[in-house]
Amino acid sequence: MTDAVRQQLQCKSCGAPIDYLSGEATLTCGYCGSTVMLAGVGNIVPVQSHFCLAPRADEAAMTASIKKWMGEGFFKPKDLPERAAFQGMEGIVLPFWVVACRSFTQWSGQNRRTRTVGFGKHSRTETYWEPASGSFQNTHNWSVYARRGEEWFGIDALNPGAVKTAADWGGFFLNFGLGNESSTGVNLMQGATKFDVKGIPEKMSIKNGQINQQQAEEEARGQIVRYNRAIADGRVTTLTDCDTQISVDGTHLVHLPLWIWSYTYEGKTYRLLVNGFSGQIIKGEHPVGKYDKLVVLIVFLLVVGGIIGLIVFALTRGR
Ligand SMILES: [Zn+2]
Repeated sequence: MTDAVRQQLQCKSCGAPIDYLSGEATLTCGYCGSTVMLAGVGNIVPVQSHFCLAPRADEAAMTASIKKWMGEGFFKPKDLPERAAFQGMEGIVLPFWVVACRSFTQWSGQNRRTRTVGFGKHSRTETYWEPASGSFQNTHNWSVYARRGEEWFGIDALNPGAVKTAADWGGFFLNFGLGNESSTGVNLMQGATKFDVKGIPEKMSIKNGQINQQQAEEEARGQIVRYNRAIADGRVTTLTDCDTQISVDGTHLVHLPLWIWSYTYEGKTYRLLVNGFSGQIIKGEHPVGKYDKLVVLIVFLLVVGGIIGLIVFALTRGR
C-alpha cells in the first residue's frame, strides 16, 4: 500500500482550495460546503443530494440520554448511572451514503414437524419435513459508511441487525449472550436538511468520503441481501433457496455528527456512540451487574436440577 498523497483542487462554487488525500472520493469545501465526487480520473461530479443532520444535541442533553440508557434495560448494574465516571468525548462528522431502496425476497425451504402415530401404548412421535415458502418486501434507507480503512466504534449499528447493546460479562461463562440487543436501524434521512457547512461546530472535524456512489450502492445491495437472508432463515428450519431483488430509488450523501463517549466502571473502560443529531445512543457497551450474574447462575442450577430430577424420576419409575 502506498501512502496517501496530499492533493488540492479548486472549489467550483467559491474558488477556495480544497485539500484532500489521494483515495478520497467525495470532497467537501470547508468554506462553502459544496461537495464534489471524484468519479474517475478528471471526472469531477457535483453531489446534488447532500444532506446533513444538524448537531443539535448538546453535552447536557447527551449526558441525560446516557444516564437514562444506563438506568434502563436488563443486566446493567443498578448503580451504573451514579458510579459510571465519564472519561471524555470526541466529536466527529462522518460521511455516509444512504441508499434509498426497496427489496423483494422470495424464499423456500423445509420445516421440521412432529406428529403422533399409532394408538395408546403403541403411539410414538415421529418427525417429518414439510415444504415451506414465502416472500416479503422491505423498504430501506440503508447507510454505507463512505470511508475505508478506519473503524469507528458502533457505526455498524446504524443498520438493522447489528448488535447495539453489548453486555460485558467479564469472563462469566454462563452468559448465553444475554443482555446483547440488536439494532432496529437509524434512518439517516429522517430530520436531514440540505448540507450547510455553517451548521457544523468548529471543534468537529468533517471527513471526506473515500467510496463513490456506485461502490456504495453495490455494498448496500450485498448487505441487504445478507440481512434479508437472515430474516428468511428465521422463518424456516432449513432454508434452501433465497432470492432478493433490489431496486434503488435514490442515493444521498449524508454527513452525520457523532460523539464517542467513554466511561469507566470498577476500573474498566466502556464506549458509547451517541447520535449528535438526536442524542440517542447508537451503540453502547456496559458491564453486567453482580446480582444479574447471581440470578442467571441460580436459574441455570434450577434448570439443571430439574432435568436431573426428571431423569431420576424416569429411571426409578421404569423399575
Ligand atoms: Zn467552496
